[in-house]
Amino acid sequence: MNNTGVSTREVDVVVVGAGQAGLSAAYHLRRTGFEPERDFVVLDHAPRPGGAWQFRWPSLTYGKVHGMHSLPGMDLTDADPDRPSSEVVPEYFAAYERAFDLRVRRPVDVRAVREGAGGRLLVETGAGTWSTRALINATGTWDRPFWPRYPGQETFRGRQLHTAQYPGPEWFAGRRVVVVGGGASGTQHLMEIAGSAAATTWVTRHPPVFREGPFTEEFGRAAVALVEERVRQGLVPRSVVSVTGLPLNDAIRRALADGVLDRLPMFDRITPDGVEWADGRRVDADVILWATGFRAAIDHLAPLRLRERGGGIRVEGTRAVADPRIHLVGYGPSASTVGANRAGRAAVREVRRLLATAPVAV
Ligand SMILES: Cc1cc2nc3c(=O)[nH]c(=O)nc-3n(C[C@H](O)[C@H](O)[C@H](O)COP(=O)(O)OP(=O)(O)OC[C@H]3O[C@@H](n4cnc5c(N)ncnc54)[C@H](O)[C@@H]3O)c2cc1C
Repeated sequence: MNNTGVSTREVDVVVVGAGQAGLSAAYHLRRTGFEPERDFVVLDHAPRPGGAWQFRWPSLTYGKVHGMHSLPGMDLTDADPDRPSSEVVPEYFAAYERAFDLRVRRPVDVRAVREGAGGRLLVETGAGTWSTRALINATGTWDRPFWPRYPGQETFRGRQLHTAQYPGPEWFAGRRVVVVGGGASGTQHLMEIAGSAAATTWVTRHPPVFREGPFTEEFGRAAVALVEERVRQGLVPRSVVSVTGLPLNDAIRRALADGVLDRLPMFDRITPDGVEWADGRRVDADVILWATGFRAAIDHLAPLRLRERGGGIRVEGTRAVADPRIHLVGYGPSASTVGANRAGRAAVREVRRLLATAPVAV
């Protein structure tokens, strides 16, 4: 019994998060003979199946996503490209969980992972504690939107929103909007709202890089290798898109030609009425939309002190270098649907090896 009077449940593996990465891990656990509830448990704090996809804005239709890979063992087929991905993907994930009987427990919020007795880890949640020999962390980034800080930010009289709260294009009608950020979200927001907003201004830290030509497998691999190197060094992972650049498709070409994607360098301060540059230029705004990305949602791992000076966790493959019981999937180089699939399989392979060498000692 722990101090809340609820007995601690013992399993071999806890998977935290039931997005693409967590479900891939759960599938491979199941396939290699692990029984849900008896040998492993999947915990997720969202109300429904779907990982972060359930929270994405309605205008992000399935046809607009950049190539969503199916989960292992069951393809997503015949999805209507005009339906919101926030409906299509959760329905598919729900069917997947049923088909493979993964028994995801939700909503269960994992609050802290600590050292337990006998080389075990204690996973503290809003629904009691699990004691486990290994942990596969698949918590994604959606819960940690990144808001940069700029002088004067608190004085702004308009609204500030992050991509995580993007309400869809209609809300911006008649408003003057400054969009911050040079990634896929920023450009998509601009293209959606330009038609109805009173004015849009795009600012990015670095000049955006548009990539001509097809996204070959070789190119993708080289990009992933760059992110992987950062993670190996314990630096905060960058998104894969930040190293691939933005694909120059027809919609982007049109937006460039129409001036929707005329980019300005980052402003220097925020005023009550808008934004200002050091050279005296200013733009009045009703809304600042921060399309500035996300960070890994890994605060619950803090008691294990895995973070390096660079701010990230050093990871080899999927294994935390400082603690082989911890695997991070969907982290850094595997933060894409295809990467998450592969990471789930790789983590399970290593976890099985680890469990075969009992007792676990760190
Ligand atoms: C707007 C947007 C569009 C994208 N489009 C694409 C695309 O087209 N193609 C592509 O390959 N990738 C895309 N990505 C990247 C995409 O997020 C990943 O590919 C993949 O879906 C992430 O899966 P995941 O399992 O790592 O994370 P998530 O889907 O975020 O799942 C993480 C899960 O962990 C749970 N969780 C988090 N913290 C806790 C906790 N403490 N306790 C319990 N549960 C917790 C959450 O509830 C969530 O269900 C996009 C990302 C964004 C932001």
